[in-house]
Amino acid sequence: MDFKNTREFAQQLDAQDKLAKYRDEFNFPHINGKQVIYFTGNSLGLQPKRTKAYVDEVMNDWAKLAVEGHFFADKPWWDYHERFAQPLSKVVGALPSEVTVMNTLTVNLHLLMVSFYNPKPNRYKIICEEKAFPSDQYMIKSQVHFHGYDPDDAIIEIKRRDGEHNIRTEDVLNVIKEAGDELALVLIGGVNYYTGQVFDMETITKAGQEAGAYVGWDLAHAAGNIHLDLHKWNVDFAAWCSYKYMNSGPGNASGAFVHEMHHNDMDLPRFAGWWGHNKERRFLMEPQFDPVRGADGWQISNLPILSLAPYLASVEMFDEVGMPALIQKRDHITSYLEFILHEIDKDVDSTFEIITPSNPKERACQLSVFLHGEGKALFDYLMENGVITDWREPNVIRLAPVPLYCSYEDMYEFGQVLKKGILSHK
Ligand SMILES: *Cc1c(COP(=O)(O)O)cnc(C)c1O
Repeated sequence: MDFKNTREFAQQLDAQDKLAKYRDEFNFPHINGKQVIYFTGNSLGLQPKRTKAYVDEVMNDWAKLAVEGHFFADKPWWDYHERFAQPLSKVVGALPSEVTVMNTLTVNLHLLMVSFYNPKPNRYKIICEEKAFPSDQYMIKSQVHFHGYDPDDAIIEIKRRDGEHNIRTEDVLNVIKEAGDELALVLIGGVNYYTGQVFDMETITKAGQEAGAYVGWDLAHAAGNIHLDLHKWNVDFAAWCSYKYMNSGPGNASGAFVHEMHHNDMDLPRFAGWWGHNKERRFLMEPQFDPVRGADGWQISNLPILSLAPYLASVEMFDEVGMPALIQKRDHITSYLEFILHEIDKDVDSTFEIITPSNPKERACQLSVFLHGEGKALFDYLMENGVITDWREPNVIRLAPVPLYCSYEDMYEFGQVLKKGILSHK
């Protein structure tokens, strides 16, 4: 399609957009009395209006039923998490028994590493990506230390080539091959948080497993954003937070995936708790731990229902919309944003550079823009003028045109504000 940098054209795209009605389902912040253009759904998704009713329901049940709510609430609390199995498994391409909700993301990755990172003197290395999200770096280092190994020796980072912003799949495969028999685990962010690069998870998973390692994915920027087929790709484990693309609210519960092939493996170490115990016998308080045969068997504690309620609202919305429709709009609106950026760049004789891959197969909702020479003043200008973006040192802004609630007119309008901002700083 030939795009145009005009308001009329953008409005026309909005008029044809089948998901346009979802924009009204969200609460937007306002700046100077005007609804913002929100590009930070990759950091904290907007609040769906329907969420409050889900939280109120739990509050009311708690007030009216107290402890009886565990079994007699409309949505009983003791197995509340099971409402996620169907819809959430569709978001990540899993069997319902392979997904669960619990804890928070870094905690879940630690717990899954208890099962899937068991270094031995001849097999102890971990492959991760260079400049992984800091929490992942701290997590991996601390796990290596915990097992008595030296992070400098045990952790292999996949580097970008000189002058390149993204990691090549062939380089990942080469590093896996070199690590060979010493490789215990591959753990990478499925979508890089900084550049928005989408990794070829199927190919990398296969290569890691052929080397005899487990392969897990941090899907913080992938869940609710990209097509995932975790079961079919034979991924060993994965975890994601729900507050980015999945709009469940600040710091909210995480999702986790454990492949079916591990559900009956009682030799895998794991940290146990009563919520992972055989559901039928949980309240018999037996001494012997008998895990649920599924991802739920990795649960530890009685679940935070007030935290799950907003996540359930969101998961049900994703189920209604479906990933294919979201992905279709995502690609289109992201291309439109890319077009607008190039148009404005020409207009202002600037030199910003999009470091996210231009190949739609290697990117999703996010464009990361390197602002040569523009600096944080521009970011501040955008914020003052009602455009919320995300600033990362040294000078990258990240823009996520989330398909559920961003409009094409937002993209046009953003271009106009950006242009004014750059000209006023020249
Ligand atoms: C957002 C993000 C996290 C956050 O972890 P929490 O435990 O939820 O604070 C971790 N890893 C990646 C790759 C992220 O993008």
